[in-house]
Amino acid sequence: MQQRRSALVTGGSRGIGRAVAVRLARAGYDVGFCSRSAGEESLETARLIGEAGARAHHVVCDVTDTEAVRTFVDETEEKLGPAYAVVNSAGVLRDRPLALMAADDWRAVVGTSLDGTFNVSRAVVRGLITRRTGALVNVSSVIGVYGNAGQTNYAAAKGGLNGLTRALAKEVAPYGVRVNAVAPGFIETEMLDGMTAKAREAALGRIAMGRFGSAESVAELVSFLVSDAADYITGQVVQVDGGIAL
Ligand code: NDP
Repeated sequence: MQQRRSALVTGGSRGIGRAVAVRLARAGYDVGFCSRSAGEESLETARLIGEAGARAHHVVCDVTDTEAVRTFVDETEEKLGPAYAVVNSAGVLRDRPLALMAADDWRAVVGTSLDGTFNVSRAVVRGLITRRTGALVNVSSVIGVYGNAGQTNYAAAKGGLNGLTRALAKEVAPYGVRVNAVAPGFIETEMLDGMTAKAREAALGRIAMGRFGSAESVAELVSFLVSDAADYITGQVVQVDGGIAL
């Protein structure tokens, strides 16, 4: 990488977002990240970014809150410089069969993934277009491609994210800005804590590689997609899933 760049990562306090933040720090990016909560988790992410030799900036921000997102972007760009890489990783689960799903379960999941990505993308996209450079990566899911019983909200959110990714990629490609999505399969993070032993076993049976993935494997792909090595890749949804549907 020729010069120091900065990156924004939503949901960077733990899990995949943290792994992405740390991986980008190792690639030479200063990293601003957000989460709804402050505390030990975000301090640990900031510590790991610092350990990688980069500057870190954490902002408490709920990505569904348009104003808070504006502040996250403005404050981070003021501290770390204009964003080059933007990674939308914030996401939540509220699994229920549709017949039993409360409207709040729907709104929480769709709001975080879709509204959140819209809010962040809108806050950064003019700057990227003006500077004629940059790359966004949205953290989607294989569920957005294949669907899954009990996850209509999550499948709709992630399927929508894949559509957003392709449409925005077309809009901004003429300005030298790239937009891609990564679609992880089952990744060992706190998000899977609620899975029963039976559900884990069933999931493992569907994965060709016979194991769940790590947040670091997803981060590696994100790091590649924002890098200059991927300068002709845009509008793609790239699965990182151990061969879940082979
Ligand atoms: P975690 O639950 O480990 O981390 C989620 C992160 O998002 C936390 O930092 C959390 O912090 C933050 N977050 C949640 N809601 C918001 C919000 N409204 N505003 C800002 N930050 C928020 O999940 P993962 O790391 O596993 O998931 C990351 C992404 O990867 C998600 O989009 C998820 O859908 C996707 N994914 C995960 C898979 C897996 O198997 N783990 C598989 C496929 C996709 P806080 O709670 O403090 O806000």
